[in-house]
Amino acid sequence: MGHARFEDLYVSPGRLSWIEFSEGIRFKLLRVSSETGAWTVLFHCLAGSSFAPHRHLGAGEYLMLKGKMEVRGGAGEGGVTAVTGDYGYEPSGVVHDSTCFVEETEFFFTNHGPIAFIDADGNTTAVLDWHDILALAEPR
Ligand code: ZN
Repeated sequence: MGHARFEDLYVSPGRLSWIEFSEGIRFKLLRVSSETGAWTVLFHCLAGSSFAPHRHLGAGEYLMLKGKMEVRGGAGEGGVTAVTGDYGYEPSGVVHDSTCFVEETEFFFTNHGPIAFIDADGNTTAVLDWHDILALAEPR
């Protein structure tokens, strides 16, 4: 999927199955690029779910399709609260220690590189790249 360099791509997400990402969070893979390392997904997050602390090793972009995402604790804590229709850009290097979903949420997300999961001291514990995303979506 998405390996052809000079072909366009058409995906109908309604025909794709949700794939387990982490507890309460699923995704549909729209595209990966082995050329640039970018990967594009739809995320579906249940109320009460959250992403583990991470650092972006490539810029990320999202468009909220449904629900609410609290980034860095949300607007009440000095972070960002993204709601339906909102667009967000996250530069490479940004750290997200807390990204929570207080209600059922769905958003389009593309990351232009890997994501490093980090511990409380900021040390990398795991790296998720386009190849890992592809392996989750299309296990051998
Ligand atoms: Zn993030």
